Amino acid sequence: MFRARTRVATAHTTHQTDCMTETESIAYDVVVIGGGPVGENVADRTRAAGLTTALVESELLGGECSYWACMPSKALLRPVIAQADARRLPGLAQAVQGPLDAPAVLARRNYFTAGWKDDGQVGWLEGTGAVLYRGQGRLAGPRTVTVTGPDGTVTTLTARHAVAVSTGTRAQLPDLPGLAEVKPWTSREATSAQAVPGRLIVVGGGVVATEMATAWQALGSRVTMLVRGKGLLNRMEPFAGELVAEALTEAGVDLRTGTSVESVSRENGTVVAVTSAGDRIEGDEILFATGRVPHTDDIGLDTVGLEPGSWLDVDDSMRVTGTDWLYAVGDVNHRALLTHQGKYQARIAGAAIGARATGGTVAEEPWGAHAATADHHAVPQVVFTDPEAAAVGLSLAEAEQAGHRVRAVDVEFSSVAGAGLYGDGYKGRARMVVDLEDEILRGVTFVGPDVGELIHSATVAVAGHVPVGRLWHVVPSYPTLSEVWLRLLEAYRDN
Ligand SMILES: Cc1cc2nc3c(=O)[nH]c(=O)nc-3n(C[C@H](O)[C@H](O)[C@H](O)COP(=O)(O)OP(=O)(O)OC[C@H]3O[C@@H](n4cnc5c(N)ncnc54)[C@H](O)[C@@H]3O)c2cc1C
Repeated sequence: MFRARTRVATAHTTHQTDCMTETESIAYDVVVIGGGPVGENVADRTRAAGLTTALVESELLGGECSYWACMPSKALLRPVIAQADARRLPGLAQAVQGPLDAPAVLARRNYFTAGWKDDGQVGWLEGTGAVLYRGQGRLAGPRTVTVTGPDGTVTTLTARHAVAVSTGTRAQLPDLPGLAEVKPWTSREATSAQAVPGRLIVVGGGVVATEMATAWQALGSRVTMLVRGKGLLNRMEPFAGELVAEALTEAGVDLRTGTSVESVSRENGTVVAVTSAGDRIEGDEILFATGRVPHTDDIGLDTVGLEPGSWLDVDDSMRVTGTDWLYAVGDVNHRALLTHQGKYQARIAGAAIGARATGGTVAEEPWGAHAATADHHAVPQVVFTDPEAAAVGLSLAEAEQAGHRVRAVDVEFSSVAGAGLYGDGYKGRARMVVDLEDEILRGVTFVGPDVGELIHSATVAVAGHVPVGRLWHVVPSYPTLSEVWLRLLEAYRDN
């Protein structure tokens, strides 16, 4: 558990040049590549386990989530959702009929990204005792990482126990004629733009596309959504996408499903997208929210026998298959591309690295501290649209595909007294998927205003394998949205 400094001559290969540089090799117990929310948490946990830890970050400490994803997108959406909630309430609706103050919303979003500066997070990391290296981290063989700093200096780090890769993802762009010249928006521009485009074309129908269409339409853009599939949010129960699509259309979004983009161009400043239906859609900007690719093409995977550009396969302790020292944590392992799930994996990986480093055993049982078993059956997700869509575990179709004998039970939120208090326009639906073998829940989905705050109750039930019979004794407060649980249990009992 000490930090050794030795001077050695090391051969380095950067992506620009091959050169022989004399440099320091610095030894740590653990080296983490990528300082997003996940890498930060790995470092925090390995420090808590008493291990010396270096963390390498090439951009901003805090990662995509803090500056171009979770935080700025939710900062944009919060006023949008609050305004929609207020407009459903007689007595309040009249007071909030005007448009949002877009410059103020954007300014508040800027505040949440700390103006794209990471000083606060650097202070936090220093407090953990981990050492920050600024630059591009690359594997250079087993347990060895080179860091190419902003000035080109190469530093070599060696890891006594583990290297953890937490380099995340970036937006995937389709291979379309004319795309580069158009300068399309990705999630980065969609979350950091400083002005509201008059017309915005959104390509995609997943979480980023629906959230950003919700935000920018409410901020004043005229949004056209081009969705290749039949509907939105196709990883959730079908009614989630249907209710969100209905609301987006009511809000003024021109939603076109079953449509793909064939080509794009920019003519006198205007973006023109030609669709498979032969339509020419014009916009001031075009956002491609068409998936993510792993940040693994330039991290030296080939030096340890792995495929550059690939997602990294891991076991439940986040150790990369076929190695005893390399971990891949967060988005980069493709188990669940969500911050909370990545941070959970980080806690598990940090504990497992700590246990292995000190000669302890790593317990793999489902309730243990060293196995991220929730990734397999109890991942929660909230889509911050209006209405919100929140789900945990498996959808009905997924449960059936997995071979479970299940029954789905649906109720409308109109049967819940607490929902009525939200106003006349409250529309929403809930589904629980019950495993008929042992009467536990395989999955739960809620759609409706404010259901994001309800999903954790379902996560406890799904992750904890709480039997339906026991749920009758989990009494929800009156009159809250949580009483939807009673309606679900009654519907299960009565049908
Ligand atoms: C628009 C949008 C909204 C989202 N909203 C939510 C949400 O509300 N809730 C939620 O749970 N999830 C959300 N997500 C997903 C969430 O952003 C990711 O799951 C999360 O950021 C993953 O964290 P990570 O640490 O694995 O990767 P990242 O956050 O991508 O961080 C990776 C870090 O590694 C660094 N890095 C990469 N390569 C190198 C290298 N070679 N050397 C050094 N450093 C390197 C990067 O600079 C970056 O800082 C959203 C995603 C998007 C795109």
